Amino acid sequence: MDNRKTARDEVVRTALAMLERGLVAGTWGNVSVRVPGAAQVAITPSGRDYRSLGPEDIVVVDLQGNRVAGALAPSSELPLHLAIYAGRVDVGAVVHTHSIFASACAAARRALPPVIEDLIQITGGAVEVADYALPGTAELATNAVAALGDRQAVLLANHGAVGCGRTADEALLACELIEKGAQIFVYANLLGGAHALDGGDVAAMRRFYIEHYRQRQEGAE
Ligand code: 13P
Ligand code: ZN
Repeated sequence: MDNRKTARDEVVRTALAMLERGLVAGTWGNVSVRVPGAAQVAITPSGRDYRSLGPEDIVVVDLQGNRVAGALAPSSELPLHLAIYAGRVDVGAVVHTHSIFASACAAARRALPPVIEDLIQITGGAVEVADYALPGTAELATNAVAALGDRQAVLLANHGAVGCGRTADEALLACELIEKGAQIFVYANLLGGAHALDGGDVAAMRRFYIEHYRQRQEGAE
């Protein structure tokens, strides 16, 4: 099996899904996945229309950002993606979106408290807002990693959202749930205020998701 090809296909599929689900407009946002079995990452090219993206357009870099395959320039947020992978062996994919309600919270610099079950399960609790830095900078990457901590999601001040996952599907789902959670948070505040859950309930929900929330194969343990 060609792991690099698999990773590039995954990036194409996820980037298109990100566009089709309304999480980005135009060419903004970006997607990366680790190449299985290699110290490499496959990432969307910068400023390219997702609707005409093919696997050969996906840039493959090593963990220092040196290009290994692909002729196009990698995403301008490559430093952000690499900084997350550097500190988090559990992360296999990173998706960065500019979705509306998440960006509204990011513009207001309001963190999403742990107020809704699915978001808590997939992200592991609050979605903090990273300190502001210009897009594409090392400073943005540093700030995002600090605010991400050991969770799966973070907001970028005046910019957008980042979702992490073990797989590309999980990172994309994190971005969908950040957006849904941000929308719920805004509406709950219109209804008198959202109530945050305590750390014990948050930890229990995350544990349930990691340890139990799936269908098992017939006959499997
Ligand atoms: P790229 O098109 O370079 O990936 O960047 C888009 C973006 O979202 C910058 O933050
Ligand atoms: Zn962006």
